[in-house]
Amino acid sequence: MAETALVLKETLIAQPTTGIAFEVKQGQVLRVVLVEGPQVVDFDVFNSDNLKERFSSSVTRSNHGAHLTKGHTLTSIPPYLNPMFTITDDTVAHKANPQGTISHDLLFGRCNWRVRKEAYNSDSNGCQENIAGVIAKYGLEPEDVHDPLNIFMTTALNEAGKPIFIDPDAVAGDYLELQAEMNCLVAASICPGRSSGPVPHIVHFEIYERS
Ligand SMILES: [Zn+2]
Repeated sequence: MAETALVLKETLIAQPTTGIAFEVKQGQVLRVVLVEGPQVVDFDVFNSDNLKERFSSSVTRSNHGAHLTKGHTLTSIPPYLNPMFTITDDTVAHKANPQGTISHDLLFGRCNWRVRKEAYNSDSNGCQENIAGVIAKYGLEPEDVHDPLNIFMTTALNEAGKPIFIDPDAVAGDYLELQAEMNCLVAASICPGRSSGPVPHIVHFEIYERS
């Protein structure tokens, strides 16, 4: 197949610690772009034509391992098991690290008010609450938030088998590019947790069509 050019249709800008929801049509291409610096993005996906069908962290982890990159597919929960997005580019330099950490995590779930209370003594929203807030207008409930792909989160298992994270390997200018394999509702949180590094940053979501 001949190479096709990507034509930018829309750029959505998400502020630190907020949630954002938007649709990506089948065949469109989404870039999740760091424009200022590193930032973890908790990335949930629903089939926008059947909101019961949503991303499965565990099925995708079984298929590809605990970290995703170019060529990997985000798969939906059973009984559907359909491709939702295919990762078509990943600019992050996956740096060698004695702890074995790698970017784009499927080990962790999503942070939430209880984690934030225990870790930071903070009464504030985590990614669970951010995503619940932006899916409400689609008729979805807090229980519909699911374990995400943690884009740019850099993680490993320690010697005890427990998930750990370090500051992201990703830098300003890096992006993850995903092609929609169905009509998708994306619900993402610009994670307020410490895994993004010491300073939170805005994230651009760029939607492209192939010419
Ligand atoms: Zn979070």
